Amino acid sequence: MSVKPNMQMFKRTFIVMVIVILSLTLVSTGSLVNIMIFKGEEYQAKASEQQLYDSLISAPRGDIYDSSMNLLATSSPAWTVYLTPNGINKLSDKTAADNVRRVIAEGLSSLLEMKYEDIYEMTQKNSYYVIVKKKIEQKTVDKIRQFILDNKDLEIASYIGLDETTKRYYPNDTLASTVLGFVGDDNQGLAGLESYYDNELTGVAGRVVAAKNAKGTDMRFSYEKVEEAKKGNSLVLTIDSYVQYVCEKYLDIAVEQEQVEERGAVIAMNVNTGAILGMAVSGDFNPNQPFTLSAEDQAIVDSITDEKEKSEKRSELLNRQWRNKAVSDTYEPGSVFKIFTASAALEEDLITQNSTFTCNHNYVVAGNTYHCHDKKGGHGTQTLAQSISNSCNPAFIQIGQLMGSTAFNKYFKAFNLIGKTGIDLPGEATPYYHKEEDMGPTELASSSFGQTFNITPIQMISLAATSVNGGYAVKPHLVEKIIDSDKNVVESFSNENRRQVISETTSATMRTMLEYVVQNGAKNGIVAGYRVGGKTGTSQKMAKILATGNSHLYIGSYVGIAPIDDPEIAVFVMLDEPTGANYYGGLISAPVGSKIMADVLPYLGFEPQYTEEELKKISVSVPDVTGDEIAAAKTKINSLKLSYKVIGNGNKVVKQLPEAGSSVYNGGMVILYAEESESQTVSVPNLVGLTAAEANSAAADAGVNIKFSGNVSSNEVLSYAQDIKAGEKVSLGQIVTVYFRDEASADMAERESTEEERTQTNATQQ
Ligand SMILES: [Zn+2]
Repeated sequence: MSVKPNMQMFKRTFIVMVIVILSLTLVSTGSLVNIMIFKGEEYQAKASEQQLYDSLISAPRGDIYDSSMNLLATSSPAWTVYLTPNGINKLSDKTAADNVRRVIAEGLSSLLEMKYEDIYEMTQKNSYYVIVKKKIEQKTVDKIRQFILDNKDLEIASYIGLDETTKRYYPNDTLASTVLGFVGDDNQGLAGLESYYDNELTGVAGRVVAAKNAKGTDMRFSYEKVEEAKKGNSLVLTIDSYVQYVCEKYLDIAVEQEQVEERGAVIAMNVNTGAILGMAVSGDFNPNQPFTLSAEDQAIVDSITDEKEKSEKRSELLNRQWRNKAVSDTYEPGSVFKIFTASAALEEDLITQNSTFTCNHNYVVAGNTYHCHDKKGGHGTQTLAQSISNSCNPAFIQIGQLMGSTAFNKYFKAFNLIGKTGIDLPGEATPYYHKEEDMGPTELASSSFGQTFNITPIQMISLAATSVNGGYAVKPHLVEKIIDSDKNVVESFSNENRRQVISETTSATMRTMLEYVVQNGAKNGIVAGYRVGGKTGTSQKMAKILATGNSHLYIGSYVGIAPIDDPEIAVFVMLDEPTGANYYGGLISAPVGSKIMADVLPYLGFEPQYTEEELKKISVSVPDVTGDEIAAAKTKINSLKLSYKVIGNGNKVVKQLPEAGSSVYNGGMVILYAEESESQTVSVPNLVGLTAAEANSAAADAGVNIKFSGNVSSNEVLSYAQDIKAGEKVSLGQIVTVYFRDEASADMAERESTEEERTQTNATQQ
């Protein structure tokens, strides 16, 4: 029953309590009687304070759900173990008191995995309430209760207390950890959504007033309930667990494969509403143990001998693993930003889809020569679509010049790039850029192709969304609604009052342009069965290059949008400091975007429509033939244009490989194991560096099946990885996934502004 607090009740409770204390005190030690008599008022105030603090009932924290009401964060019961050393201090027999201290220190140190000395010291304090350890789980609490029972003769129950509280629990461990954040010892939000929405999630603590006996311990059965704890509100996120999982999966693979030193980030966003469906940061943490470093980072800390240095390093690495790179870090967007320049110039009617731009390799602005990445004497005369697809800097410098710094800055502001986006996460970074009054011809030139200024990834994807969604600014957000403990909606966040930045006409042109880019330049962004638009970028980390002297520091990025004719989702990928063989966004980041979209688009209900070329290579679902007569199985398999191989002499299929429901290459082979046959193993062939046709025939020769992933748009595209290593022994018929990307055309465009030019551009910035 919930009882509302009122002053009268409080007074009555307090009087009862004082009487209880007084009457118990009278039969207790003389010193306490003295205190009661001579310092009565002061003591009473202290006592009441002590009682109320002692007896707060912590409120359960609200839960966090994904967009389908799957739990991402919840609270489970936990206990705080505390001591009442003043109870022990008052024992007249000092030897007995010390015995109690030693028994408690011994028992609790072993049950709570703490140091004996630390607990012994706690038992000597002059206090009624000393916390020994928080967030103790049920099984340990049961052991403590048993320990108290076992030492009944020492009245240990009077000196050890257990307060029931809650412990934050994240059922999916690392999933979305940088978004969710984590809580501290007192369940206070310390990072991510837990911190941003701390007030909503934190409930209202309840109170009980309990009388104390002479030893200062609770009188267990004389609670007077004043107010019940009220559970905090819960959050329903825009994050979809599946999309989140897919973003994390492919990001992690890329970070490992491309040997990315400074982590990577992926954002998947609904381009019409700004709702974030997935936000992944590699090198994140488990919010159940937020202070645990990865094994790799821990090894770094362990290798340091100096204690101060060690602790600084530890704190630096913890902050790094908690940091949401997608929101809290800025970067130079590079060529992806050409989306902005093209959108703004189109909107100002300074250029049209039919405008042409000439590139003779060199372009001089205010005495500075800018080189195009094209080493063959320039791109010549290009249409707007070709200029974006070629990622031609001279063309974009010209577009910037047509705009001038006033218009450039007008749109920079309109696209919401001068401040924070206001996303509901703590620690959003502020962009820095050339203000209109500071923007000379060179600053305008470099800004037009995305360099010499910094924005956040969340700003980059938001601006891409605006350019294709009909021209509306979107506010990126992670919480769809806030609900109370009865699941009533307290507040919901929609994207009303949409502000138009560019016209629908301009936006339609941008959709056409960006589809052209993926078809002709950023081909690794292609997703079989879907119409995709996108833009790649590669930028050098100039500040760090100047500081370290290491010139090989890049960020490879990509933003993809699909379906580009009626956009729904944008995927942004950035890989910070790839140190492998490749670093161009078109080679390392676009394939990540393509893989994410290939998994997410069908999940979101978009049916693929394959071209004939794609149809030849796409995967077929293997039928279930286990248990069938061999003849029937053959017919079933043939009808799907798959081939088969029978192992053994029986009449029935006892086992098949690949299993029913697996995807294999159109024309792949199903191995039918008849009765009394043994599994056969084969060696996985090398399937890297081959065309789709070559990979397929190599796989068939070796007796494995193949599944294509990535850009398989043409027969010239080569594979660059396989999921099972060459030489590994697998069952006959095993599926090997082979990844393709277009190395030749890989947006060579990305060879923008290599070292020579960058030095020049930045020299003007000094
Ligand atoms: Zn060019």
